[in-house]
Amino acid sequence: MRIKLPRMARQCVFCGGSGLTREHVIPRWLSNVLPEQARFRGQDQATVLLQPERAVDGPHHREMVETFNSATVKAVCGSCNNGFMNDIEAEARPLLSSMVRGSLALSLAGGAAPAVATWAVKTSLMAQLTGSEPTVFPQVYREFHATRKPTSDCMVWAAAVDDENWGLRTECRGMLYVLDDQSANPNDPPNILSVTIGLGALLLHTIIDPVLANSTWNLLTYAFRGALVPLWPDPRPTTWPPRVLHPAEAWAISESMPTLLS
Ligand SMILES: [Zn+2]
Repeated sequence: MRIKLPRMARQCVFCGGSGLTREHVIPRWLSNVLPEQARFRGQDQATVLLQPERAVDGPHHREMVETFNSATVKAVCGSCNNGFMNDIEAEARPLLSSMVRGSLALSLAGGAAPAVATWAVKTSLMAQLTGSEPTVFPQVYREFHATRKPTSDCMVWAAAVDDENWGLRTECRGMLYVLDDQSANPNDPPNILSVTIGLGALLLHTIIDPVLANSTWNLLTYAFRGALVPLWPDPRPTTWPPRVLHPAEAWAISESMPTLLS
């Protein structure tokens, strides 16, 4: 299935260049690593508008109809697609493959955690463009392109999961959060993004939040300690896998940001 983007994306979301190409949200090489896709396990998109003094619209759930790894977006130019995005794939691929397969006794020390976190942010930035109402923060895309690392607005955790529902799943939640001293326009696009991606035995949880301070980081790391492994911005050297998540915990993690803010 091809996803039509809103007007914004006539230029590359990363470098502003032209000559857009189609990019798979979930790279094709992962097909050899992921569980059998005998049936589609689901992907939801929800937009939750916060600050209840305004008209609250949502959440909108959208069950995607295409198979998990067939979604593409046309928002990136050829040189970004074949250049830095490809480099991120190559760096994360060996470790990511092992984590998706549920291999035991990996080390996430050194550059391993940042490599997986960078992949998670790249994939989250692509995944959210498949939604009906993408979160718009062009500066995050540009800074990510410039530094090739998650920006200071990004937080990434990983967890081990053993649940059919989470084997092939993407949960994108956009939130529009307006600070008390700022005026709110209910038609503004979401400004906080939470993306939870289930890949076989691996769950990656990414929050991109240019609005609030990252107290979220400490809250989530503490609330799911022993299960959520912090990968970015403050990776804690650890061995993999951690305690395996209960499926209900995976859902709680995917819904944690709207829960925290409401
Ligand atoms: Zn580009």
